Amino acid sequence: MSCAFELAHYGELLEAARTGGYRFATFEELPEPGLVFVRHDVDLSLAAAVTMAEVEAELGARSTYLLMTESVFYNLTSAEGTATLERLRALGHRIGLHAVHPNAELDNRFDPVVAWHNPKPEYMSEPIAGVVNTYAQPYFAPATYRSDSNQRWRFGCPHEELRAGAFPWLQLLVHPEIWVYPGATMGQTMGAMLDAERERRLVQLADDGVELA
Ligand SMILES: [Zn+2]
Ligand SMILES: [Zn+2]
Repeated sequence: MSCAFELAHYGELLEAARTGGYRFATFEELPEPGLVFVRHDVDLSLAAAVTMAEVEAELGARSTYLLMTESVFYNLTSAEGTATLERLRALGHRIGLHAVHPNAELDNRFDPVVAWHNPKPEYMSEPIAGVVNTYAQPYFAPATYRSDSNQRWRFGCPHEELRAGAFPWLQLLVHPEIWVYPGATMGQTMGAMLDAERERRLVQLADDGVELA
């Protein structure tokens, strides 16, 4: 099995978790043996989030999408943002806030779960009143946390450990853009994303009445 950052292998990762006896949990539940909390920080692309959410739904997996209200890359209050919220809900996933510190105010678009974007150590694991901080106890501990940040697993791709049931439980952070756009490195993947973005922007310009001929 190749551990490429591609949707096919993401599906294999989910199947490995199931083979290992895990159940997909969301953050209303507390960690306990046998649970996998799949968390998606959506930093760059709503389209990539929806694509990944559809793959998960086909495989019967549920996860939590953390969306930004202060992204420089997408607008959650645009028509695309609203459609994304509706689609993720329809597919059965949870939606939390990918928050820019210190603003963790939730409105009714969000379930009570927050993950800080690019957190600093001094506040990262502090409790947040009334909501789950995914970086705080009891959800966050190095032995039960794996992340694909910058297209690099610090401790290797976790599919073997999942299949073997080696984690008591796990919080798995997966960034949709990394798996949806092709590329062997983060730089290549971002290049592919920007190429797709250019096409998307051209369509948006035409839709907005801009003459491109
Ligand atoms: Zn793998
Ligand atoms: Zn982020």
